[in-house]
Amino acid sequence: MRCVFYFALGITAVISGLEAQPPAPQIESIRRDQLKADVFFLAGDFFRGRLTGTPEYRIAAEYLASRFERLGLKPLAQDGFFHRFDLVLSRLGRDSDNRITLNAAGRSKAGKLLEDFYPLIFSADGEAEGRLVFAGYGIVAPKLGWNDYSESIKDDIVVVLEGEPGADDPKSPFDGLVTSEYANAISKTLEAQSRGASAIVFVNPSHRGKGTRAFPASARAYWPEKPPHLERYTLASRAERVRIPVLQLDPVWVEQAFGKTAGELKQRAEKPGAFIRSENQSLRVAVALNRFIVEDRSVVGLLEGGDAQQRQEAVFVTAHYDHNGATAEQIFPGADDNASGSAAVIEIAEAFVLAAQSGQRPKRSVIFAIWGSEERCCGPLLGSWAWVENPDWPLEKTVAVLNMDMIGRNEEVPETGGSKFNGLKPQTAQSNAGSVNLLGWSYSPELSRMADAANRKIDLRLLRRYDNNRSNLLRRSDQWPFLQRGVPSLFVHTGLHPDYHTPYDRPERIDYSKMERITRFVYQLSWDLANADGRPRFLSPRTILPPEAE
Ligand SMILES: [Zn+2]
Repeated sequence: MRCVFYFALGITAVISGLEAQPPAPQIESIRRDQLKADVFFLAGDFFRGRLTGTPEYRIAAEYLASRFERLGLKPLAQDGFFHRFDLVLSRLGRDSDNRITLNAAGRSKAGKLLEDFYPLIFSADGEAEGRLVFAGYGIVAPKLGWNDYSESIKDDIVVVLEGEPGADDPKSPFDGLVTSEYANAISKTLEAQSRGASAIVFVNPSHRGKGTRAFPASARAYWPEKPPHLERYTLASRAERVRIPVLQLDPVWVEQAFGKTAGELKQRAEKPGAFIRSENQSLRVAVALNRFIVEDRSVVGLLEGGDAQQRQEAVFVTAHYDHNGATAEQIFPGADDNASGSAAVIEIAEAFVLAAQSGQRPKRSVIFAIWGSEERCCGPLLGSWAWVENPDWPLEKTVAVLNMDMIGRNEEVPETGGSKFNGLKPQTAQSNAGSVNLLGWSYSPELSRMADAANRKIDLRLLRRYDNNRSNLLRRSDQWPFLQRGVPSLFVHTGLHPDYHTPYDRPERIDYSKMERITRFVYQLSWDLANADGRPRFLSPRTILPPEAE
């Protein structure tokens, strides 16, 4: 088991002057009344919850870009302050064009769409046929010594389980309790495709209801009859790479094909070498989806550094501006999530601009990014993933990312919190007054120490408790794609509360004086990073930490 602890690493002083950082210039310009004005505006009813694909969402992006323009930031893209990316929205094609047939020992059995199987939203169209093989979780991770493909699968149809091995094991090399990127269904699909599979079939053992069949209900939840309030999208840059049919199948079918229960298959997949080649069982599949492109944007602006060399590197200050929209009855205003972070990015940008105007330009460049479609599935973080896959600033010249998502409340976990609070200890809002969670700290001890130094005068209670936690919070905001690409990143987050993702996440419920302190802290840290001699290092492979806050 990989188990390295930091105190054994002998951190060298790449970052100098940690003890006495002078206050960043113009830090007093970050004021609660200005933060409040922006949160009230962005979380106002007019914006109707800033849902991807709506006119209000587009206006929010225009507004943020106009603020960057007015501050005098520079655009990175040729056509202004937008990083553009395309999303794909899918609808099921005709029933008769979505088919499966299992052939075994001369007998054939046809499956029914949404009863026995369904295509995934990023599936390619087309038909495929092949012998069924089972390949565990369908994961190849050379760095972790894991390979579920011990045999060739050329022209076969590969069956894999959703998820990853050791999902409940805090010491799992697959990011402990946090779901690793190896569990991503598109990554698994591309792996199978690169090995010549003619199609890939996903199975979730929990769809095997006790006595009853759970599969049709989950199929209907995945493809509801009417378009859902919250649509599922795929990044076009990823969907374009998928050339094989991708299906979800009722575990009952897989049990028949391999002569093992879904539970037995899952147990087998927990160890390498789970591979099974079925005896004369072949599947024929056909998938037909209708696709629509939805254009999307993140808002990005640059403040150039003052040092001729160091200005080629940048510190990122980020947040996301989208939220969960509105239904006919109610609006999800998303004040804490994440008008708060968006407003803070603007205030920090203004402080940097005022500093530069007063003759104190940071040595490195600073990039302000307000991501689109963080909330949108599947998987989320679409704007920041689109950036790391097609960045307008090189990732290797990205010194650190400071991401703010929900920075205006006190974490509050009720005793009977339900699934929303999975993995989090019950705690009162009062107990978290003055506290803020730092996530991602375990990937860069140097960045983590700089955070402490930046906080010295501001004196927030910095809590490091969710980097290895069942809540998956670490991968639930826009620092995650950067961590996956080896960029030191921190997620600054006051925590979940009962109003999270409800119509009650309203601007009047934000604690603006706390938010002012957090915004000043992130400004101070970004200032320190922009002026330090060295860069914080990224620790890889990452340490497996003890489980936190179970
Ligand atoms: Zn958020």
